[in-house]
Amino acid sequence: MKPSEIVKDVFIVGGPDITDGRDGCIYLMNLGELILIDTGAGWSVENIISNIKKLGFDPKNLAKILLTHCHIDHIGGVPEIKKRFGAKIYIHKLDTPPLENGDPVLTAAKWYQTSFPPTPVDVKLNSPDETLIVSGQKIVCLHTPGHTPGSISIYLDKDGKRILFGQDLHGPLLEEFGSNLEEYGRSTKNLLNLEADILCEGHFGIYKTKKDVKNYILSYRRQYGVE
Ligand SMILES: [Zn+2]
Ligand SMILES: [Zn+2]
Repeated sequence: MKPSEIVKDVFIVGGPDITDGRDGCIYLMNLGELILIDTGAGWSVENIISNIKKLGFDPKNLAKILLTHCHIDHIGGVPEIKKRFGAKIYIHKLDTPPLENGDPVLTAAKWYQTSFPPTPVDVKLNSPDETLIVSGQKIVCLHTPGHTPGSISIYLDKDGKRILFGQDLHGPLLEEFGSNLEEYGRSTKNLLNLEADILCEGHFGIYKTKKDVKNYILSYRRQYGVE
């Protein structure tokens, strides 16, 4: 698969079928500045950068990296991208220590037979929802714990569509990640209430109708028995 535009100014630039089988999906927003959502597992930074260029953008304009949670398949590219372009790293406060400590278990680096260097975070999100405004466009970061304590989901309303970035809504829910089923139930309920039109998911790609988004979230709620 090639990098592509999902809706105007929102792109997929990486993921298991695009950059590296170990990567979570990587999304890019062009809002005057470039914003990356997640960064893959770390082996594909060159591919991500070349995909950003292929879409006609200068990666020097990468201003922010929004991390949906602390797992290596989403954060692995951060140290290199930060070093090259100086983008600011955003992640929820509760998922910050694994990054800053380079924790092999909580980052799941051990699972991927790699390591993650201790990496300082620039902005620690710390409320149920936090809104960033970039060139007048609101980007909402919702705290949606469950898979990890500091998982966030991100949404924005653009051209009449609500676009939701919901990574690892499929789980897994594991004790070693600090997963919590009750929180997962509450978080996925909140996500259903958003009635998003498009779901940009973390490993399986993009769901493009309201009905598909709803069914996707419901299927995992059913699987985890939280209906
Ligand atoms: Zn994860
Ligand atoms: Zn993942």
